[in-house]
Amino acid sequence: MKYLDEYRDAVLVHATINKISQTVSQPWTLMEICGGQTHSIIKNGLDQLLPDEIELVHGPGCPVCVTPLELIDKALAIASQPGVIFTSYGDMLRVPGSQADLFSIRAQGGDIRVVYSPLDALKIAQENPDKEVVFFAIGFETTAPANVMSILQADQLKIDNYSILVSHVRVPPAIELILSSTDNRVQGFLAAGHVCAVMGFWEYIPIAEKYKIPITVTGFEPLDIVQGILKTVESLESGEPVVKNAYIRTVTEQGNQNAQKVINQVFGSCDRKWRGIGIIPESGWCLKPAYAAFDAEQRFNVQTIKAEESPLCISGLVLQGLKKPDECEAFGTLCTPHNPLGATMVSDEGACAAYYRYRNRTPEDNKVL
Ligand code: SF4
Repeated sequence: MKYLDEYRDAVLVHATINKISQTVSQPWTLMEICGGQTHSIIKNGLDQLLPDEIELVHGPGCPVCVTPLELIDKALAIASQPGVIFTSYGDMLRVPGSQADLFSIRAQGGDIRVVYSPLDALKIAQENPDKEVVFFAIGFETTAPANVMSILQADQLKIDNYSILVSHVRVPPAIELILSSTDNRVQGFLAAGHVCAVMGFWEYIPIAEKYKIPITVTGFEPLDIVQGILKTVESLESGEPVVKNAYIRTVTEQGNQNAQKVINQVFGSCDRKWRGIGIIPESGWCLKPAYAAFDAEQRFNVQTIKAEESPLCISGLVLQGLKKPDECEAFGTLCTPHNPLGATMVSDEGACAAYYRYRNRTPEDNKVL
Protein backbone atom coordinates (compact mmCIF):
# COMPACT_ATOMS: atom_id res chain seq x y z
CA MET A 1 0.00 0.00 0.00
CA LYS A 2 1.42 3.38 -1.06
CA TYR A 3 2.75 5.57 1.78
CA LEU A 4 2.79 2.53 4.05
CA ASP A 5 4.87 -0.32 2.65
CA GLU A 6 7.86 1.89 1.80
CA TYR A 7 7.87 3.21 5.37
CA ARG A 8 8.10 -0.38 6.68
CA ASP A 9 11.06 -1.27 4.47
CA ALA A 10 13.55 -3.08 6.72
CA VAL A 11 16.54 -2.26 4.47
CA LEU A 12 15.81 1.48 4.62
CA VAL A 13 15.18 1.32 8.37
CA HIS A 14 18.53 -0.39 9.01
CA ALA A 15 20.33 2.04 6.68
CA THR A 16 18.87 4.98 8.63
CA ILE A 17 19.86 3.40 11.94
CA ASN A 18 23.40 3.04 10.57
CA LYS A 19 23.37 6.77 9.80
CA ILE A 20 22.25 7.48 13.37
CA SER A 21 25.16 5.34 14.65
CA GLN A 22 27.60 7.29 12.46
CA THR A 23 26.18 10.64 13.63
CA VAL A 24 25.89 10.12 17.38
CA SER A 25 28.93 10.92 19.55
CA GLN A 26 27.45 11.08 23.05
CA PRO A 27 24.35 9.92 24.98
CA TRP A 28 21.03 11.62 24.19
CA THR A 29 17.58 11.11 25.68
CA LEU A 30 14.70 11.63 23.26
CA MET A 31 10.97 11.53 23.92
CA GLU A 32 8.39 10.42 21.38
CA ILE A 33 5.26 12.37 22.23
CA CYS A 34 2.59 10.07 20.86
CA GLY A 35 1.45 6.71 22.21
CA GLY A 36 1.04 5.51 18.61
CA GLN A 37 4.74 6.15 18.11
CA THR A 38 5.52 4.32 21.37
CA HIS A 39 3.67 1.27 20.14
CA SER A 40 5.44 1.34 16.80
CA ILE A 41 8.83 1.65 18.55
CA ILE A 42 8.22 -1.22 21.00
CA LYS A 43 6.37 -3.45 18.52
CA ASN A 44 9.16 -3.17 15.96
CA GLY A 45 11.97 -3.32 18.52
CA LEU A 46 13.35 0.00 17.24
CA ASP A 47 14.68 1.01 20.66
CA GLN A 48 16.70 -2.23 20.73
CA LEU A 49 18.13 -1.59 17.27
CA LEU A 50 19.31 1.94 18.04
CA PRO A 51 22.88 2.62 19.19
CA ASP A 52 23.35 2.49 22.97
CA GLU A 53 23.82 6.26 23.13
CA ILE A 54 20.14 6.88 22.23
CA GLU A 55 17.57 6.38 24.96
CA LEU A 56 13.90 6.74 24.11
CA VAL A 57 11.44 7.74 26.83
CA HIS A 58 7.72 7.72 26.28
CA GLY A 59 5.58 10.81 26.31
CA PRO A 60 2.07 11.81 27.35
CA GLY A 61 0.47 11.67 23.90
CA CYS A 62 -2.06 8.91 24.53
CA PRO A 63 -5.52 10.47 24.77
CA VAL A 64 -7.08 7.59 26.68
CA CYS A 65 -4.16 7.52 29.14
CA VAL A 66 -4.34 11.18 30.10
CA THR A 67 -8.12 11.38 30.42
CA PRO A 68 -8.57 11.94 34.17
CA LEU A 69 -10.20 9.30 36.31
CA GLU A 70 -12.86 11.74 37.47
CA LEU A 71 -13.92 12.33 33.87
CA ILE A 72 -14.38 8.57 33.44
CA ASP A 73 -16.54 8.67 36.57
CA LYS A 74 -18.53 11.56 35.09
CA ALA A 75 -19.04 9.52 31.91
CA LEU A 76 -20.24 6.57 33.99
CA ALA A 77 -22.65 8.80 35.93
CA ILE A 78 -24.14 10.22 32.74
CA ALA A 79 -24.29 6.86 30.93
CA SER A 80 -26.15 5.30 33.88
CA GLN A 81 -29.02 7.75 33.62
CA PRO A 82 -32.29 6.60 32.02
CA GLY A 83 -33.10 8.24 28.71
CA VAL A 84 -29.42 8.69 27.81
CA ILE A 85 -27.61 7.20 24.82
CA PHE A 86 -23.91 7.50 25.60
CA THR A 87 -21.60 7.27 22.59
CA SER A 88 -17.85 6.84 22.52
CA TYR A 89 -14.88 5.53 20.62
CA GLY A 90 -14.47 1.86 21.51
CA ASP A 91 -11.21 2.16 23.44
CA MET A 92 -12.86 4.23 26.19
CA LEU A 93 -15.29 1.46 27.13
CA ARG A 94 -12.64 -0.63 28.93
CA VAL A 95 -11.03 2.24 30.82
CA PRO A 96 -11.75 1.66 34.51
CA GLY A 97 -13.34 4.40 36.55
CA SER A 98 -13.27 4.34 40.35
CA GLN A 99 -15.89 1.59 40.60
CA ALA A 100 -16.80 0.40 37.09
CA ASP A 101 -16.25 0.90 33.38
CA LEU A 102 -18.59 1.71 30.51
CA PHE A 103 -18.80 -1.98 29.53
CA SER A 104 -20.17 -2.87 32.95
CA ILE A 105 -22.68 0.00 32.79
CA ARG A 106 -23.80 -1.40 29.42
CA ALA A 107 -24.11 -4.88 30.94
CA GLN A 108 -26.43 -3.35 33.56
CA GLY A 109 -28.68 -1.99 30.81
CA GLY A 110 -27.09 1.35 29.94
CA ASP A 111 -27.48 2.38 26.30
CA ILE A 112 -23.82 2.78 25.38
CA ARG A 113 -22.87 2.72 21.72
CA VAL A 114 -19.49 2.65 19.98
CA VAL A 115 -19.23 5.18 17.16
CA TYR A 116 -16.43 6.02 14.76
CA SER A 117 -17.13 9.74 14.65
CA PRO A 118 -19.05 12.37 16.64
CA LEU A 119 -21.05 12.92 13.46
CA ASP A 120 -22.38 9.35 13.89
CA ALA A 121 -23.40 10.34 17.42
CA LEU A 122 -25.16 13.42 16.05
CA LYS A 123 -27.08 11.22 13.61
CA ILE A 124 -28.19 9.03 16.52
CA ALA A 125 -29.44 12.20 18.24
CA GLN A 126 -31.45 13.15 15.14
CA GLU A 127 -32.96 9.66 15.00
CA ASN A 128 -33.81 9.62 18.73
CA PRO A 129 -35.31 13.02 19.58
CA ASP A 130 -36.80 11.67 22.82
CA LYS A 131 -33.33 10.69 24.16
CA GLU A 132 -30.33 12.66 25.33
CA VAL A 133 -27.30 11.68 23.21
CA VAL A 134 -23.85 12.35 24.62
CA PHE A 135 -20.50 11.92 22.85
CA PHE A 136 -17.33 11.32 24.86
CA ALA A 137 -15.09 13.97 23.24
CA ILE A 138 -11.61 13.05 24.38
CA GLY A 139 -8.34 13.52 22.59
CA PHE A 140 -5.60 15.80 21.45
CA GLU A 141 -5.73 18.37 18.67
CA THR A 142 -6.21 15.55 16.14
CA THR A 143 -9.80 14.75 17.06
CA ALA A 144 -10.89 18.32 17.78
CA PRO A 145 -12.01 19.26 14.23
CA ALA A 146 -14.60 16.45 14.02
CA ASN A 147 -15.86 17.25 17.52
CA VAL A 148 -16.37 20.93 16.76
CA MET A 149 -18.03 20.08 13.44
CA SER A 150 -20.60 18.01 15.33
CA ILE A 151 -21.34 21.03 17.57
CA LEU A 152 -21.59 23.43 14.65
CA GLN A 153 -23.97 21.05 12.83
CA ALA A 154 -26.06 20.49 15.97
CA ASP A 155 -26.29 24.26 16.39
CA GLN A 156 -27.19 24.85 12.75
CA LEU A 157 -29.78 22.04 12.65
CA LYS A 158 -31.14 23.00 16.11
CA ILE A 159 -30.57 19.51 17.52
CA ASP A 160 -31.00 20.17 21.20
CA ASN A 161 -30.69 16.60 22.52
CA TYR A 162 -26.97 16.36 21.69
CA SER A 163 -24.05 17.26 23.94
CA ILE A 164 -20.38 16.35 24.38
CA LEU A 165 -18.36 15.42 27.45
CA VAL A 166 -15.15 17.28 26.68
CA SER A 167 -11.64 16.34 27.73
CA HIS A 168 -9.51 17.88 25.01
CA VAL A 169 -5.80 18.33 25.67
CA ARG A 170 -3.04 20.12 23.74
CA VAL A 171 0.55 19.02 23.20
CA PRO A 172 2.57 22.28 23.52
CA PRO A 173 1.71 22.97 27.20
CA ALA A 174 2.63 19.36 28.07
CA ILE A 175 6.02 19.75 26.37
CA GLU A 176 6.59 22.94 28.35
CA LEU A 177 5.64 21.19 31.60
CA ILE A 178 8.17 18.41 30.93
CA LEU A 179 10.91 20.87 30.00
CA SER A 180 10.23 23.08 33.03
CA SER A 181 10.66 20.21 35.50
CA THR A 182 13.90 20.13 37.48
CA ASP A 183 13.88 16.34 36.93
CA ASN A 184 13.65 16.64 33.16
CA ARG A 185 15.91 14.30 31.17
CA VAL A 186 14.49 14.93 27.70
CA GLN A 187 16.95 16.55 25.26
CA GLY A 188 14.92 16.25 22.07
CA PHE A 189 11.32 15.55 21.06
CA LEU A 190 9.66 13.60 18.29
CA ALA A 191 6.44 15.57 17.81
CA ALA A 192 3.27 13.71 16.84
CA GLY A 193 2.69 13.83 13.08
CA HIS A 194 -1.10 13.60 13.19
CA VAL A 195 -1.39 16.46 15.71
CA CYS A 196 0.85 18.57 13.46
CA ALA A 197 -1.24 17.64 10.40
CA VAL A 198 -4.01 19.69 12.04
CA MET A 199 -2.03 22.33 13.95
CA GLY A 200 1.17 22.61 11.89
CA PHE A 201 4.38 23.10 13.82
CA TRP A 202 4.44 26.89 14.21
CA GLU A 203 3.57 26.51 17.91
CA TYR A 204 6.75 24.46 18.51
CA ILE A 205 9.19 27.02 17.13
CA PRO A 206 9.09 29.38 20.16
CA ILE A 207 9.32 26.35 22.50
CA ALA A 208 12.45 25.08 20.73
CA GLU A 209 13.96 28.59 20.97
CA LYS A 210 12.99 29.14 24.62
CA TYR A 211 14.24 25.77 25.92
CA LYS A 212 17.02 25.36 23.32
CA ILE A 213 15.80 21.91 22.37
CA PRO A 214 15.29 20.28 18.98
CA ILE A 215 11.82 19.07 18.02
CA THR A 216 11.20 16.93 14.93
CA VAL A 217 7.73 16.33 13.51
CA THR A 218 7.63 12.55 13.10
CA GLY A 219 5.24 9.97 11.67
CA PHE A 220 4.33 6.53 12.92
CA GLU A 221 5.81 3.86 10.68
CA PRO A 222 9.25 2.41 11.52
CA LEU A 223 11.05 4.41 8.83
CA ASP A 224 9.24 7.60 9.86
CA ILE A 225 10.41 7.13 13.42
CA VAL A 226 14.07 6.42 12.69
CA GLN A 227 14.12 9.36 10.25
CA GLY A 228 12.72 11.57 13.03
CA ILE A 229 15.38 10.27 15.41
CA LEU A 230 18.13 10.88 12.85
CA LYS A 231 17.04 14.50 12.28
CA THR A 232 16.83 15.11 16.03
CA VAL A 233 20.27 13.59 16.66
CA GLU A 234 21.73 15.68 13.83
CA SER A 235 20.27 18.80 15.51
CA LEU A 236 21.68 17.79 18.90
CA GLU A 237 25.12 16.93 17.58
CA SER A 238 25.38 20.21 15.67
CA GLY A 239 23.97 22.27 18.56
CA GLU A 240 20.95 23.47 16.57
CA PRO A 241 17.80 23.60 18.74
CA VAL A 242 15.42 23.88 15.79
CA VAL A 243 12.12 22.41 14.64
CA LYS A 244 12.39 20.05 11.67
CA ASN A 245 9.74 18.22 9.71
CA ALA A 246 10.31 14.51 9.03
CA TYR A 247 6.68 13.97 8.02
CA ILE A 248 6.49 16.17 4.95
CA ARG A 249 4.00 13.94 3.17
CA THR A 250 1.37 15.09 5.68
CA VAL A 251 2.51 18.15 7.64
CA THR A 252 3.17 21.79 6.80
CA GLU A 253 4.34 24.54 9.15
CA GLN A 254 0.92 26.21 9.23
CA GLY A 255 -1.13 22.98 9.30
CA ASN A 256 -4.80 22.84 8.37
CA GLN A 257 -5.87 26.44 8.84
CA ASN A 258 -9.55 25.75 8.12
CA ALA A 259 -9.54 23.16 10.91
CA GLN A 260 -7.79 25.60 13.28
CA LYS A 261 -10.39 28.25 12.43
CA VAL A 262 -13.39 26.07 13.36
CA ILE A 263 -11.63 24.82 16.50
CA ASN A 264 -11.08 28.43 17.61
CA GLN A 265 -14.71 29.24 16.84
CA VAL A 266 -16.07 26.57 19.21
CA PHE A 267 -13.29 25.93 21.75
CA GLY A 268 -11.40 28.27 24.04
CA SER A 269 -8.26 27.53 26.01
CA CYS A 270 -8.71 26.29 29.60
CA ASP A 271 -6.75 24.59 32.39
CA ARG A 272 -6.99 20.81 32.10
CA LYS A 273 -6.24 17.93 34.45
CA TRP A 274 -4.08 15.16 32.94
CA ARG A 275 -4.39 11.72 34.48
CA GLY A 276 -1.44 10.98 36.76
CA ILE A 277 0.09 14.41 36.11
CA GLY A 278 -2.41 16.91 37.46
CA ILE A 279 -3.57 20.27 36.16
CA ILE A 280 -1.51 21.81 33.39
CA PRO A 281 -2.45 25.48 32.88
CA GLU A 282 -3.99 26.37 29.53
CA SER A 283 -3.48 22.80 28.31
CA GLY A 284 -7.05 22.06 27.33
CA TRP A 285 -9.87 23.17 25.14
CA CYS A 286 -13.34 23.79 26.54
CA LEU A 287 -16.55 24.87 24.85
CA LYS A 288 -16.86 28.64 24.54
CA PRO A 289 -19.83 30.26 26.35
CA ALA A 290 -21.74 30.57 23.06
CA TYR A 291 -21.77 26.74 22.83
CA ALA A 292 -22.20 25.97 26.56
CA ALA A 293 -25.61 24.43 25.86
CA PHE A 294 -23.76 21.48 24.31
CA ASP A 295 -21.63 20.88 27.41
CA ALA A 296 -22.65 17.51 28.91
CA GLU A 297 -20.98 18.31 32.25
CA GLN A 298 -23.32 21.25 32.74
CA ARG A 299 -26.36 19.54 31.24
CA PHE A 300 -26.08 16.55 33.60
CA ASN A 301 -24.68 18.51 36.54
CA VAL A 302 -21.64 16.26 37.11
CA GLN A 303 -19.00 19.00 37.51
CA THR A 304 -18.41 18.24 41.18
CA ILE A 305 -17.50 14.52 40.84
CA LYS A 306 -13.96 13.86 42.12
CA ALA A 307 -11.84 10.69 42.08
CA GLU A 308 -8.57 9.38 43.53
CA GLU A 309 -5.98 7.49 41.46
CA SER A 310 -4.57 4.14 42.62
CA PRO A 311 -1.56 4.93 44.86
CA LEU A 312 0.33 2.06 43.17
CA CYS A 313 0.13 3.55 39.69
CA ILE A 314 3.10 5.62 38.51
CA SER A 315 1.66 6.36 35.08
CA GLY A 316 2.17 10.09 35.64
CA LEU A 317 5.93 9.49 35.87
CA VAL A 318 5.81 7.19 32.84
CA LEU A 319 3.95 9.83 30.83
CA GLN A 320 6.59 12.45 31.67
CA GLY A 321 9.49 10.18 30.69
CA LEU A 322 10.74 9.89 34.28
CA LYS A 323 10.09 6.13 34.63
CA LYS A 324 9.70 3.18 32.25
CA PRO A 325 6.59 0.97 32.58
CA ASP A 326 8.58 -2.06 33.78
CA GLU A 327 9.93 0.06 36.67
CA CYS A 328 6.40 0.07 38.14
CA GLU A 329 6.05 -2.47 40.95
CA ALA A 330 2.56 -3.41 39.77
CA PHE A 331 3.61 -3.98 36.13
CA GLY A 332 2.58 -7.43 34.91
CA THR A 333 1.47 -8.58 38.36
CA LEU A 334 -1.22 -6.43 39.97
CA CYS A 335 -1.61 -4.49 36.73
CA THR A 336 -2.21 -6.25 33.40
CA PRO A 337 -4.38 -5.45 30.37
CA HIS A 338 -7.04 -7.77 31.86
CA ASN A 339 -6.90 -6.04 35.23
CA PRO A 340 -5.50 -2.56 34.61
CA LEU A 341 -4.80 -0.19 37.49
CA GLY A 342 -4.01 2.74 35.24
CA ALA A 343 -5.03 3.94 31.80
CA THR A 344 -1.56 3.42 30.31
CA MET A 345 -2.23 -0.33 30.65
CA VAL A 346 -5.71 -0.12 29.12
CA SER A 347 -5.22 1.85 25.99
CA ASP A 348 -3.75 0.35 22.84
CA GLU A 349 -1.55 3.46 22.74
CA GLY A 350 -0.48 3.20 26.38
CA ALA A 351 3.21 2.65 27.11
CA CYS A 352 2.47 0.04 29.81
CA ALA A 353 0.30 -1.98 27.42
CA ALA A 354 3.01 -1.76 24.75
CA TYR A 355 5.66 -3.08 27.16
CA TYR A 356 3.32 -5.84 28.36
CA ARG A 357 2.47 -6.91 24.83
CA TYR A 358 5.85 -6.60 23.11
CA ARG A 359 8.65 -6.13 25.61
CA ASN A 360 9.84 -9.74 25.67
CA ARG A 361 10.21 -9.83 21.92
CA THR A 362 13.63 -9.56 20.39
CA PRO A 363 14.33 -7.84 17.06
CA GLU A 364 14.56 -11.34 15.58
CA ASP A 365 10.95 -11.98 16.60
CA ASN A 366 9.85 -8.95 14.68
CA LYS A 367 7.63 -9.58 11.71
CA VAL A 368 8.40 -6.25 10.05
CA LEU A 369 12.08 -5.65 10.64
S1 SF4 B 1 1.92 -0.82 35.04
FE1 SF4 B 1 -0.20 -0.27 35.64
S2 SF4 B 1 -0.01 0.57 37.70
FE2 SF4 B 1 2.04 0.62 36.76
S3 SF4 B 1 2.21 2.65 35.81
FE3 SF4 B 1 1.45 1.25 34.23
S4 SF4 B 1 -0.78 1.48 34.36
FE4 SF4 B 1 0.03 2.33 36.28
